[in-house]
Amino acid sequence: MRERTTFSRKLITGFMQADEMEKNLKEQFSLLLKLQAVDVKIDELEAARAECPVKIEAAKNEVEQKKQSRTDAKNRLAELQKSRKMMELEMESDNNTMKKNQTQLYELKSNEAYLAMQNEIAGLKEKVGRIEEEIIKNLMDEDVCRQAISESEGSVKQAEENLVRVEKQCADEIKVIEQKIAEEKTRQAEISGGIDEKLVADYKKLRENKGGEVIVRIINDNICSSCNINIRPQLLIEVSKYKKLVCCESCGRVLFKEDL
Ligand SMILES: [Zn+2]
Repeated sequence: MRERTTFSRKLITGFMQADEMEKNLKEQFSLLLKLQAVDVKIDELEAARAECPVKIEAAKNEVEQKKQSRTDAKNRLAELQKSRKMMELEMESDNNTMKKNQTQLYELKSNEAYLAMQNEIAGLKEKVGRIEEEIIKNLMDEDVCRQAISESEGSVKQAEENLVRVEKQCADEIKVIEQKIAEEKTRQAEISGGIDEKLVADYKKLRENKGGEVIVRIINDNICSSCNINIRPQLLIEVSKYKKLVCCESCGRVLFKEDL
């Protein structure tokens, strides 16, 4: 700890010899890169862990959706049955009226009343015929509904089985992920223990602000691999000197060259 603090103070005050500092900063830099690799790995693992509840939620929604479809189909069947019942009652009543009218028909004295009654009977017959057709159509719709209910029973069962499977998979996955996170955190502590505290703090602040990789490669001799801009020659020289952390003027990430 004392050593690192001294290093930090020397780094800030510039007391360190140039070549010693370069060597140190280069070393520190390569450790920072290792730390970054571990941190990125931890981010990935944490993201994978966060995916698990999302997957479970999606499977739960699927179950709810299938149950809703089943309820809808059941409600529709109940409606169809209710309306058929009403039509059957109406038809029964019309048939009764028709029978009554038929009986009365022969008791009527005037020709006019007889014709009127005959017309009424014909009208009722036609109406009963229409209701019968409606009832048949209704019965067919009920069959379609029953089929849909039976299919949705299957879908609900399937979705519930899938939910159990997903929950089990996620529980297993989380166990593995947490084990890996614990391993990476041990590595993280080991590596950062060897790096100057100030450097680690600067690096952490950058990661908090930007996330992901904050120490980025210079590619094709002068291009920032993060934002793809051309780096000024003066800045490139500073990067090669390893006297301080040099940030890309466009994306603000720390630049490093492949020779580390
Ligand atoms: Zn950049």
